[in-house]
Amino acid sequence: MEKYLQVKATNPEILEKAENGGAVTSLLKFLLESNTVEGVLNIKKEKDVYDGIPTFTTDPDELIETAGSLHCAPTMISDIIARHLKDEKIAVTTKPCDAMAIDEIIKRCGINRDNVYMIGLNCGGTVQPIVAEKMIKLFYDINPEEVVSEEINKGKFIVELADGTEKSVKIDDLEDEGYGRRENCQRCELKIPRKADVACGNWGSSKGYTFVEINTPKGEQLIQNAIDNGYIEAKEASEKQIKIRKKVENIMIKMAKKTQKKQLIKEYPDEMSEIFTRCLKCYRCRDVCPVCNCKVCSLEKPYYEEDPFAEPDPLMLHAIRMGHMAFSCINCGQCEDVCPMEIPLSKIFQKVQLKYREETGYISGVTEDKPMMYSGEKEEIVE
Ligand code: FAD
Ligand code: SF4
Repeated sequence: MEKYLQVKATNPEILEKAENGGAVTSLLKFLLESNTVEGVLNIKKEKDVYDGIPTFTTDPDELIETAGSLHCAPTMISDIIARHLKDEKIAVTTKPCDAMAIDEIIKRCGINRDNVYMIGLNCGGTVQPIVAEKMIKLFYDINPEEVVSEEINKGKFIVELADGTEKSVKIDDLEDEGYGRRENCQRCELKIPRKADVACGNWGSSKGYTFVEINTPKGEQLIQNAIDNGYIEAKEASEKQIKIRKKVENIMIKMAKKTQKKQLIKEYPDEMSEIFTRCLKCYRCRDVCPVCNCKVCSLEKPYYEEDPFAEPDPLMLHAIRMGHMAFSCINCGQCEDVCPMEIPLSKIFQKVQLKYREETGYISGVTEDKPMMYSGEKEEIVE
């Protein structure tokens, strides 16, 4: 749609607590208070900045507790919608990977797009909470428990202590030493979630404003209604601001492609069976996948079992997962994060997805049509 605005909350409490201009919290509040949605699914800080958890609220007054960005919360939310909120009218905050996963589930008929307001967040990447604690000790010489807030700005990971002291380290320096953003985030090419109704971020914005790209007519109407009802004020983004944002986006995409070449260099098929026989068959990779939501999982169908109590052998397990999921893999990396046997699942799946993209042009979570190998899942999706 190519519509860009700079948006600011009118509520001072939201402005105070929000990451940028508080557009996201204000839009969510408007959607709840106008009864446009029944609930909001987003991420909330629990114990500390390393403890961002998904939260579902129906009370607009509780939304203030969710304001602000949590960069150490790689949590995905699409499967929560498919499993628990399929029939509710809701609003969700979506990083690009959340938006891509939602898109793939919509193609499998597991989420009804009409029921969901997608409030997108641009994303330069997340940091694994445990890695964040380690790197803060090591590079910042700070007890991680003393950190009250964190942010990523101008290529630096910045932490703030209770007395207002700030310390920052360049992300490049952290990543050179194996810390910083998750490897998947470093490889991720989608930085602005244009499948969301609006995409919100700080790139290009004036201080105290959220830069909002409007992507759908539903998003446009939402912004207009929120302005008319006094929740936000908005001004046009200048040509210069739009250019700056585009430039940063392009640099980030270029860096991601470069990192893909570096991190995906291994030709796994040569050693595939050795890698996969390490598998314990704990099924964590399947359970955590934000796209994989079949009602009856093929891995549990009796015809794959040699005897009624045996699970498929590891090679069969991964062949089945790959056949079902690799073309729809959105490179969130959750499978690799949870695998106790350190199988490079996400690297293998992303390599397959990129090959599939090369052959068919299909980009998971972005292309409008269903993937060419799509079949059957329609009846299988979780109820
Ligand atoms: P607020 O009113 O403060 O609301 C923020 C909302 O985001 C809340 O509803 C909260 O629940 C939700 N949220 C917080 N953390 C997460 C999370 N991890 N996953 C999903 N939802 C979450 N913008 C850029 O332009 N460039 C970037 O590189 C960039 N990187 C980001 C990386 C991460 C991990 C996140 C979460 C955001 C990033 N953003 C980036 C977006 C930016 O930080 C702000 O979220 C955005 O500008 C909206 O500001 P706001 O004041 O309107 O949001
Ligand atoms: Fe096998 Fe790792 Fe998946 Fe568990 S998480 S089933 S060990 S690949």
